[in-house]
Amino acid sequence: MAERARKSQSSTHHAGPPTAAERLLAAEQRALALGVRTSAVVVAREYETHSQSVDDRKYTLRRARDGWRCDCAGYRYHGVCKHLGAVALRAEREGWDFGHIAGLTDGPPPAVRRLRPLEVA
Ligand SMILES: [Zn+2]
Repeated sequence: MAERARKSQSSTHHAGPPTAAERLLAAEQRALALGVRTSAVVVAREYETHSQSVDDRKYTLRRARDGWRCDCAGYRYHGVCKHLGAVALRAEREGWDFGHIAGLTDGPPPAVRRLRPLEVA
């Protein structure tokens, strides 16, 4: 499945769950590897993307005051997804500030959150 985030460039190896930055980086790499495409509804605020596994399924990514959200299952389960990774890459390319993802923090994950395979979207 998806490769882990590249670690070789990082000199500080730490144990424990990945940080928010690492999870976003991993999402960006999945977006790149899988060729996730997004289209702007409102630049820097709202994007759409088509599901790669379900025909006619569309996901919407929106930026609220507290950060970005996606309405896919991956985001709901993991607090980050390849779609948001794709938008983060897009921000980098287009030169606007992506900001952060709502709910993606370095704090401990909610106790009820169960880990599932990442690519459900
Ligand atoms: Zn998503």
